[in-house]
Formats: sequence, structure tokens, C-alpha cells
Amino acid sequence: MDHLIRNIAVLGSGTMGNGIAHTFAQFGYQVNLIDINQAALSKALTTIHKNLDRQVAKEIISEKQKEQTLANIICIDDLEKGVANADFVIEAATENTGLKLNIFKELDKFAPKAAILASNTSSISITKIASVTNRGEKVIGMHFMNPVPVMRLVEVIRGYATSKETTKMVMDLATTLQKNPVMVNDYPGFVANRILMPMINEAVYTLYEGVAGVTEIDTVMKLGMAHPMGPLQLADFIGLDVCLAILKVLYDGFGNQKYAPCPLLVNMVAAGKLGAKTGEGFYRYTTGSKALVVAEKFKYPETM
Ligand code: NAD
Repeated sequence: MDHLIRNIAVLGSGTMGNGIAHTFAQFGYQVNLIDINQAALSKALTTIHKNLDRQVAKEIISEKQKEQTLANIICIDDLEKGVANADFVIEAATENTGLKLNIFKELDKFAPKAAILASNTSSISITKIASVTNRGEKVIGMHFMNPVPVMRLVEVIRGYATSKETTKMVMDLATTLQKNPVMVNDYPGFVANRILMPMINEAVYTLYEGVAGVTEIDTVMKLGMAHPMGPLQLADFIGLDVCLAILKVLYDGFGNQKYAPCPLLVNMVAAGKLGAKTGEGFYRYTTGSKALVVAEKFKYPETM
């Protein structure tokens, strides 16, 4: 290895960014957590505190490790400063192609020449992201799962230009976080979302066509297939807007009708019913409990 990884820059401090920062810091890396939004940075720190407290309560880490983890994280609202000493940058900003291309142009300009630039994107082409930099061989996908401190999988995505050395470094890096990395090639949806999203879309179609209601569909998949969560509840947690965006990437990327998003999913996103983050999707979350959304307009069997 020509390059030891110690200093990490995490760009974007939302749902994924705070978990990624938490995880790297927990395993001893120095982390600069960067966001353009100060409120997002404050919220991220609060979430990291809360999640560390939970780990202490479950005796996964000690109180001292919690303090060390917090001491390893610095919040910064300036990309140029935040990446200046980075050995490894991981971008976890909003899932938007134009935004990510702009960010990677900036990262290429301001991060040290030896730094690896990774993206946590769920679906955007790593090859395309790499093409706006002058270091395509050092650009890679490192796709963590939500919640990051808990989930073991990391999908490592090799873009067309990604070098073997970069891939090996990122596979090894994931192992130092006690994660299980799986290497995949760069095609729409990679592996995780190429398989997951059509299943979620089919669950929405099953509801849309009135074959069964929300609870019935989720119960079949939980009890019948041993999934920890039904596909509609999972869609609510991922965010229906995120699911729709990924399905569009699959649909555009393969030009195949089988990835066409269900009109009910399209309608729910248009209506702002994005799932847990907005308080309502297939379930209602306003009371903090998982109450069913009873919506006659969707003709759920239980309302007939
Ligand atoms: P989010 O909306 O919770 O957070 C995105 C953050 O990026 C926000 O805090 C925003 O202020 C910040 N941001 C936007 N533009 C920025 C910029 N120019 N510089 C710095 N920060 C910027 O999003 P998320 O759910 O954490 O998703 C982040 C990435 O992770 C996306 O690419 C998404 O596809 C991917 N991902 C999400 C999940 C999930 O379950 N949510 C799972 C795996 C991967």
C-alpha cells in the first residue's frame, strides 16, 4: 500500500453520513464530518450521541470508548478545509446526480492527490462520478447500509476505471470497521438495490391492484420469507422518494419495462407521503407507533 488511511472526511451528515462518521470514529479514525447545513451537523452530533449511548447501554462499547469516539469527530461546514488532510473521502450527500458530479469536481480539486474518493450512493454510476475527476482509478463506491453502526454489509463498487489497488484498500478498510465487504461491478442499482427495489415495487403493485392490504403483504413476507421487516414498511424506512429515484435509475439504465415504478408509488411521492421521515407512507408514524394508514383511495381490502 502506498498510502495509510488515518484521516477520513465524510461529506454529508444526514441519515447515512452521521452513521458513517460514527463508525469510522468508533474504530479509531480521525473524522471530519462536513455538511453545508449547520443544522444538519448539529442534528448529526445529537444522533451520534444517542446511538453511542445505546451502544453503551447494550455493553457493545464502554463509556470510555464513547468519549474517544466523540473526540475523534470534528464537524466542519467548509469542504475545502474539511478534506485538506484526508487520506480517504466518503461522500454521503443527497442522492442527486448533478449535485454529486459537482461535489466530486470539488473533491478532486481540494483533497490530497493520493486520497481515495468514495461515494455512498445507492444507485448513481460510479463510472460517471469518476469521469469528472482526474483520478478515476481512485474513485469507488462504498455503499453502507442503514443503520450504519449496526448493519454488517458494505457493497464495494468498482467503477470502470477503479484500480485493483483502490478496490483492495477499500475492502480492507471495511474489514477494519468489522464490516463484511462484498465486491460488485458498476451497473445500475449494483446488487443490493437491483434486487431489493423490484421486490418493493412489486409489493406496491400488489397493493395497488388490490390483491392484499398493507399488513397482509408485509405479514406474508415477514412470516413466509423470514424477512425482519415487510417490503412496504422497509420502503417507508428507506424513504419512498429514495425508492422512486432508484427505480428510475434502473428503468433508465436498463431500458426495461420491468423496472417501471408503480403509479401508486409515484402518486405517494408527489403527495409528499415519503414514509417515516414525513410521518406517513404506507404506515403512519405521527404518534411514534406504527399505525396503519387507512386510505380508501388506495382500495385496501380491509377498508372495503
Ligand atoms: P440525507 O438527505 O439524510 O442527508 C444528505 C445530507 O447531505 C444533508 O445533511 C445535506 O445537507 C447534505 N448535503 C447536500 N449537499 C451537500 C454538499 N454540497 N456538501 C455537503 N453536504 C451536502 O440523505 P441520506 O439518506 O443520508 O443519503 C445520503 C447518501 O447515501 C445518498 O447517496 C443515498 O442514496 C445513500 N444511501 C442512503 C441510504 C438510506 O437508507 N437512507 C442507504 C444507503 C445509501
